[in-house]
Amino acid sequence: MDFGLTDEQRLLIDSVRRFIKEELQPLEDEIERNDDIDSKAARAVYEKSKSLGLYALNMPEEFGGGGLSAVDSMLCEEQFGHTTDILVRRAFGDVYEALLACRGEQVDRWLRPAVSGERICGFAITEPGAGSDAQNIKTTASQVEGGWVLNGTKHFISDAEASDCFIVSARTGPSEISLFLVDKGLPGFTVGRRQRMMGLRGTTHNELVFDNVKLEPVALLGETGAGFKAAMSMLGRVRLSLIGARAVGRASHVLEMMTEYAAMRQQFGKPLGEFQLIQEMIADSVIEINSARLMVLRAAWMLDQGLDARGWISMVKVQASEVLNRVVDRGVQVFGGMGYCQEMPLERYFRDARIFRIFDGTSEIHRVVIARTALKQGPALFDLHR
Ligand SMILES: Cc1cc2nc3c(=O)[nH]c(=O)nc-3n(C[C@H](O)[C@H](O)[C@H](O)COP(=O)(O)OP(=O)(O)OC[C@H]3O[C@@H](n4cnc5c(N)ncnc54)[C@H](O)[C@@H]3O)c2cc1C
Repeated sequence: MDFGLTDEQRLLIDSVRRFIKEELQPLEDEIERNDDIDSKAARAVYEKSKSLGLYALNMPEEFGGGGLSAVDSMLCEEQFGHTTDILVRRAFGDVYEALLACRGEQVDRWLRPAVSGERICGFAITEPGAGSDAQNIKTTASQVEGGWVLNGTKHFISDAEASDCFIVSARTGPSEISLFLVDKGLPGFTVGRRQRMMGLRGTTHNELVFDNVKLEPVALLGETGAGFKAAMSMLGRVRLSLIGARAVGRASHVLEMMTEYAAMRQQFGKPLGEFQLIQEMIADSVIEINSARLMVLRAAWMLDQGLDARGWISMVKVQASEVLNRVVDRGVQVFGGMGYCQEMPLERYFRDARIFRIFDGTSEIHRVVIARTALKQGPALFDLHR
């Protein structure tokens, strides 16, 4: 068992860290103020990151991606947690691995442009009536001569306004869900109202409305009926990286601020860091961040070995998102009034952190999955010797 980082891994982490510090963090305040990212700035960070080979690191090299292993991807994703959602999307790309199901003509039409960053591809599963119960969708795709006709409404779709296309789940039979590649601009497809969120300023979230949208046969991603399984397996890796690793990164970022402030800020003639109640908050944060990080890396290692990591990914989703929320809450507490004041980014981190426990499967749903797996498989999920 080797917990050390190789020289290549250190170099990779250093490059991503430096890029985030120098190119992305300086843009955060303006994005927060405007709830938008300036298009020129977005283009500039994309071009710079691409020239450094940092775009779509998770995707295979044969399609133009970075070809990183799951473990190496998570090391980078942890760094991504040091900046804001929209900047990660623009600079590094949230390219969904479900696109790897593209075959034939689909590869040049949807996969390669997403990996290169020429086109942004969102994913749309959630509906007003089907969130946690993702199998209960009402959107339908009916097979007709010359393709499919799509009808239905999705909501809460991240980055919908900037996306050029979407992976959409739709019912293709009474008990059959399939995935489709749907381009913006098709007749009958509208990006609906913007749904304003508590945090994640700069990233748009919208309804998508499909009203008799005609799709070519090539729009079907994977086999008919394989959509739900494919969507869930895609979300597995998404949960590990976008939630697990980024939560660890964001919590580390907050902890760094806490320790610096506790060493500098004086009350009662002493630095805050000398008060044991403050020390407890710092110590608990250190312990919890490290436990979550090790879980992220263990689950990533399982993916690299081709092992079934679903139970572990659920554990990571719960642990990392809840650790982040506790650490940010302590961060606000250690900063006192400054933690609540908009002159510091902590109140933003506090709002941004809350969604980690909700999207891509709530904590409750993942606890259900963990308990069911433990009850079914016995010690396999919690005993290394099994
Ligand atoms: C900012 C943001 C971005 C998002 N981005 C996307 C996106 O890009 N694409 C996409 O498809 N979706 C996206 N979503 C949707 C997100 O994944 C869902 O909001 C999430 O899965 C929860 O579904 P819901 O909101 O319908 O809550 P519900 O399913 O209605 O759940 C409400 C509450 O009930 C609890 N609950 C539900 N069922 C059970 C149960 N069986 N046992 C115990 N408790 C239960 C839940 O845990 C929760 O606490 C996004 C959401 C947000 C807020």
